[in-house]
Amino acid sequence: MAESPFAAQPYQGIPTFGRRPFTRDTQGADVAILGVPYDGATSHRSGARFGPRAIREASLLLWGYNNALGVAPFDTLRIIDAGDADIVPPDQQATQKAIEAEARQLSASGARVLALGGDHSISLPLLRAATALHGPVALVHFDSHPDTWDAEFGTQKYSHGTVFRRAIEEGLIDTSAYFQIGIRGPTAGPADYADARQLGATLVTLDAALARTLPLVLAEVTAVIGNKPTYVTLDIDAVDPAFAPGTGTPEPGGFTSHQMLQLVRGLAGLNIVGADLVEVAPPYDHGQITAILAANLVFEILSVVALKQAN
Ligand code: MN
Ligand code: MN
Repeated sequence: MAESPFAAQPYQGIPTFGRRPFTRDTQGADVAILGVPYDGATSHRSGARFGPRAIREASLLLWGYNNALGVAPFDTLRIIDAGDADIVPPDQQATQKAIEAEARQLSASGARVLALGGDHSISLPLLRAATALHGPVALVHFDSHPDTWDAEFGTQKYSHGTVFRRAIEEGLIDTSAYFQIGIRGPTAGPADYADARQLGATLVTLDAALARTLPLVLAEVTAVIGNKPTYVTLDIDAVDPAFAPGTGTPEPGGFTSHQMLQLVRGLAGLNIVGADLVEVAPPYDHGQITAILAANLVFEILSVVALKQAN
């Protein structure tokens, strides 16, 4: 891609993700970045609607070469920034339909959709679109919460706390290859974790992940999933709020920035067909700590895709 002369410095020009071209033309695209500025399914602190813009802004700091993996995803992948989904703030169902339609359109000619949230409810329509192409997907889910409640606010079936129960019910997830990693913190009771496991998720608490060591956890994840079509969903609250304060439902005692980068990097070899990074809420961020980490984590996901495509 020919760079605009105004793109020379991080503080110049219009901030698409990583200065990729802003276009809806998916011909030949390997990855389409899609912003989903929706936080209407948040249970407590909203603000993730401002996530995509903050992540794009922070992404201007990305240099482009991943030394740990030895890839330059911006060079070897054709990555487009497709802008934002047409969300409908007061209507979650209409928003989900719009996200799914957008993701289906972007992926129709082979591009993987990498979404910037938005709250975690956006994963449901994104998974619907991914499975329409690939069938039930393996899922790597980084989070401090299982998000497998049956309902929230009494009887509400669709929130950012119920998304993976709905996805399992709809048959979107290959539960023999579903890992939840980083789960921790107080819950309403013991049923939260038991329910997730009963639904088929391999729930790896943060304590278990650290006790086992991250390389061993990653070895199991990559061995079990193999070459299955895989979706990666990264709730930024998997990271400790000391490293990622800009999120709606923080849980202390999480992964460090370094550990989170290692975890995503460790997915190298997986066949990633779609991904999202959610729950970045800039109103609670400080000094762009969370947004910069989020941009780098997206870069790691792109690097894993680039590595797979090269091999
Ligand atoms: Mn969470
Ligand atoms: Mn979540």
